[in-house]
Amino acid sequence: MSFIRLVEYSSRRGVATHPYPEKPFEVDELYRGRPVLDASVCIGCGACANACPAETIRVETDYEKGVRRWTICYDRCIFCARCQEVCPVNAIELSREFELAARSREDLTVVAEFKLGSCAKCNSYLDVSIRHVELAQKLLEKSELVNIMRELAKYTVMCMKCRRSFFVEKLGEATRGG
Ligand code: SF4
Ligand code: SF4
Repeated sequence: MSFIRLVEYSSRRGVATHPYPEKPFEVDELYRGRPVLDASVCIGCGACANACPAETIRVETDYEKGVRRWTICYDRCIFCARCQEVCPVNAIELSREFELAARSREDLTVVAEFKLGSCAKCNSYLDVSIRHVELAQKLLEKSELVNIMRELAKYTVMCMKCRRSFFVEKLGEATRGG
């Protein structure tokens, strides 16, 4: 195509490109961009980390400090939305943000920390956050099987060791008929 014909063709068709980044670029509402965590809602359960196929999200537990650390590093994200799908409390959502260029990996990393719950019997740290325990208790309280659930609710604030001895004790009482 000659240059003249090309100019004619272009003037007929109008501008086909977008002046980004001079002007903001609006993506489609279904666009999958940067996953954003609402740390005020997250219970630190780790379901998103288990489901993430790219190991973008990591959840580590420090039993010495009694802290669960949630980390996302956007340079690995494939924007599949599995984290959003599996989150039980809608704490993570894919935004429409696509500008993820950064100078260092640290700039692409977001961390959130959650305090671990502690055993009601021996005070050792549990494998779940305080917020997770509170949510479990709230759900149990709402249940129709409220009396059984109240009894079961005690297990949610016990470590595995105390839980085991609690069960053994209850089993003993039941066997003795008391
Ligand atoms: S969108 Fe997919 S790859 Fe990205 S953090 Fe969520 S689960 Fe992982
Ligand atoms: S699944 Fe949801 S609640 Fe659980 S750690 Fe991930 S973002 Fe937080």
